[in-house]
Amino acid sequence: MYFTFDAYKNLISEIVKHGYAITDYHSYQTVKKPCILRYDVDMDLKRAAAFAEMEAGLEEGVKATYFVLVSSNFYNLFSRENQELIHRMVRSGHEIGLHFDEKKYMTEENFDAKLLKKAVVREVKFLEDIIENPVKVVSMHRPSKKFLESEMEFEGIINSYDSMFFQKFKYISDSRMNWREPVEKIVAGEKEEALHILTHPIWYRENEVDMHRVLEEFVRSACIERYENLDDNLRDLNSILKIEEIIC
Ligand SMILES: [Zn+2]
Repeated sequence: MYFTFDAYKNLISEIVKHGYAITDYHSYQTVKKPCILRYDVDMDLKRAAAFAEMEAGLEEGVKATYFVLVSSNFYNLFSRENQELIHRMVRSGHEIGLHFDEKKYMTEENFDAKLLKKAVVREVKFLEDIIENPVKVVSMHRPSKKFLESEMEFEGIINSYDSMFFQKFKYISDSRMNWREPVEKIVAGEKEEALHILTHPIWYRENEVDMHRVLEEFVRSACIERYENLDDNLRDLNSILKIEEIIC
């Protein structure tokens, strides 16, 4: 499958055409052949918001779950610009879940289930404050083996790594810009009773570009953004440092 908006739109219509009902982590039991769409926003909130709006415009009426990080070094959810982006995602009708990075709190050797639970509750509160809506589902960012084995439950919050979403559902992901299994074939095969699809909006464009180019553009745009932020915060920046002097 190509990493383009058109290819993704086509995947959605194939999912529906082959009898799957696009649903979420709360309602999957009420439909036959559920398909949960999960998006992890690991790096680029801007692209996620654009993807969410594209998806909301589809005639299939897609409601997906976008998992965002509170502890990211790539985006700050408390900035005005990013709050606007996340509110655009909420207005598009999608659910916002917490993407949680346990490595911000502990190493695998010092895995501490109690501390992790506390940290999840704390980050959920931050996120609820920002989106002005309850947060009811959490997904892990690069979960450790210890976490996966622990079958952890959170009070009032669904763990998207609950074994059920992997055992009863066929889980397919585009991690590292690579569908390890042929997602379109699996959908068309109609053999799976339930689908759990993880996508990363950062990989998708109008026209496909390779992973090297995606990452290169991402780093360059961050460099320009940093200069612009500096310009907003420092008088006469141009007289001290010109954007042309920076390699980005
Ligand atoms: Zn992640």
